[in-house]
Amino acid sequence: MSKVAVITGAGSGLGRSTALRLAEDNVNISVVDIDEEGGNETVKQLKEAGVDAIFIKADVSKPDEVKNYVDETVNHFGTIDYFFNNAGISGSGGYFLDTEVSEIEKIVGINLMGALYGVRYVAEVMVKNGGGAIVNTSSSAGVIGQDSVVTYSATKHAMVGLTKSLVAEYAKDGLRVNAIAPGPTETPMVKEFFENNPNMKESAENGIPQKRLGTPEEVAETVAFLLTSKAQYINGDVIRIDGGFTSTK
Ligand code: NAD
Repeated sequence: MSKVAVITGAGSGLGRSTALRLAEDNVNISVVDIDEEGGNETVKQLKEAGVDAIFIKADVSKPDEVKNYVDETVNHFGTIDYFFNNAGISGSGGYFLDTEVSEIEKIVGINLMGALYGVRYVAEVMVKNGGGAIVNTSSSAGVIGQDSVVTYSATKHAMVGLTKSLVAEYAKDGLRVNAIAPGPTETPMVKEFFENNPNMKESAENGIPQKRLGTPEEVAETVAFLLTSKAQYINGDVIRIDGGFTSTK
């Protein structure tokens, strides 16, 4: 029987690439996003790839909308085998003392609270059904300190704690939980960030040993590996996908 994945932020970037990569393994997908147009486009591409897919509109920072995407997925597909807990925003890129409190709240609401709510409801289904695999999206900024991304970095370090501590509690129930820490990857989010902060693009590329940004497909390949059955004994790990960036820090 086909497996079922829930992917948040699947209307764009890493979420969409991973959805399309999992479709190659015949995985059916719940596409969750706040952006209806992007989400529906991903569903269209998944159906063209030959799998079943539904779009569920949700703001992941709202717990009732998170519970709803989990309920709707179970109603449609019967279960959840894989969860790519991925929706996130980067913020405006200023120094922390110049950051409005409203921006701090927004980043924490989506990146941290959204990820916690997601695991809260998805893992409940997985544990009840005998297990499942989760990948939380951290970042290079979740494993090293960087300027201009203090709030973002705080939420992405939190993904590491979430990942490890969930394993401590639920590995015995069949949950595998890992995190990915991509370096700058050429998705719409990063393109927009570098358009607003052009000086940072050059220094980002220069600081990467492989001297280029990553691609969404490279991230998708790693997520698919972590979610599928070939990686049954990898648990609680943080996989860096960054061209050597954080290994030189
Ligand atoms: P993206 O902007 O292309 O995609 C993010 C998606 O999340 C969008 O479709 C957006 O509509 C959705 N989203 C935003 N807020 C939401 C909300 N409140 N509820 C539901 N959906 C929401 O960005 P991306 O680069 O694909 O980023 C995906 C994840 O990867 C993020 O968590 C980001 O922090 C992380 N990340 C990205 C990079 C990179 O370089 N692209 C590097 C490290 C980590």
